[in-house]
Amino acid sequence: MFLSERARAIAPYTAGEQPSDKRYVKLNTNENPYPPSPLAAEALKKFDADRLRLYPRPDADGLRAAIAKAEGVSPENVFCGNGSDEVLALCFPAFFDTDGKGACFAEYTYSFYDVFARFFSVPCVKIPMKEEFYLDFDRMGACSCDGYLIANPNAPTGVGVPRGEMERFISSVPDRIVIADEAYMDFFGESCVPLTACYRNLLVVKTFSKSYSLAGIRCGYAVGDAALIDGLFRMKDCFNSYPVDAVCQEVCGAAIADAKYHAETVSRVVAERGRLREALLALGFTVPESRANFLFAGRSRLSGAEIYRQLKDRGVLVRYWEKPFLRDFCRITVGTREQNDVLIAKLKEILA
Ligand SMILES: *Cc1c(COP(=O)(O)O)cnc(C)c1O
Repeated sequence: MFLSERARAIAPYTAGEQPSDKRYVKLNTNENPYPPSPLAAEALKKFDADRLRLYPRPDADGLRAAIAKAEGVSPENVFCGNGSDEVLALCFPAFFDTDGKGACFAEYTYSFYDVFARFFSVPCVKIPMKEEFYLDFDRMGACSCDGYLIANPNAPTGVGVPRGEMERFISSVPDRIVIADEAYMDFFGESCVPLTACYRNLLVVKTFSKSYSLAGIRCGYAVGDAALIDGLFRMKDCFNSYPVDAVCQEVCGAAIADAKYHAETVSRVVAERGRLREALLALGFTVPESRANFLFAGRSRLSGAEIYRQLKDRGVLVRYWEKPFLRDFCRITVGTREQNDVLIAKLKEILA
């Protein structure tokens, strides 16, 4: 009875499960199976607890400088948040009006966009996919809206859009903001960050959670024109002045400076992704080519929910959605070679 109408009405985002009942081969939330950079681990170990008496730097200046250096931009073009989910959330009040034409995104994409839109009372415009897997840029460009959210590579399908194709779209809508959610981009290597210098309507959002193996520390960032970054700062300072804690600033700064380790980890995941996809195809699964650290796999006469249940009984966790089209698939995070071998063995058992 104390809840607002909004709190009663909204359907929150459901994150993938983080079970504590037993040890699973955990391939359900796209975490990285390899440890964070040793330099990040070192920064964590050396962190002086006495520093926690003080508030962190409110604008995460040191971390923003480290990110700017790694991304080849200026610190004034970088904004940091408590996970890229928070950065994406702040984009809604920063760039969309509640009585505007709305935020446009694909029918099958990161389901948090829809939750954010409702939370911030921003109208949304959902565009059907082409042959279910591909973004329909023609329809997106032609629709009435104030801007776009594009997960690239897309979640949960893993399909990626090359930079050239993104640029064609971004340049065709100069009066609308394009927010490129590049949570998985490091596994594809076609980032739009270099385009932010030329297109004032482009904001790229990235995260430390996936390719940097730092999901537990909660840090994400945006790169874009200083005017867009300023909009995000305005919203942050209406909500939480210190979203990025002092430990996080140190650890993520060390992680992003270790380009060599990052590249090695990414290439191990990419190699396993190819091997795992081949194995799934051999078992009769339909698996679109993935540019992310997960595979979207479906098999006729087996729902995603059924695969999930049977795998969970055998100690392997994957993710599925009870939604039209998506329900015929499950999403499998690329694990270590050993984890992937367990998954394949259990799938063979289930199919036998
Ligand atoms: C994982 C993910 C994010 C954000 O993750 P954070 O941990 O909040 O940085 C954002 N977008 C997509 C599409 C994701 O899959």
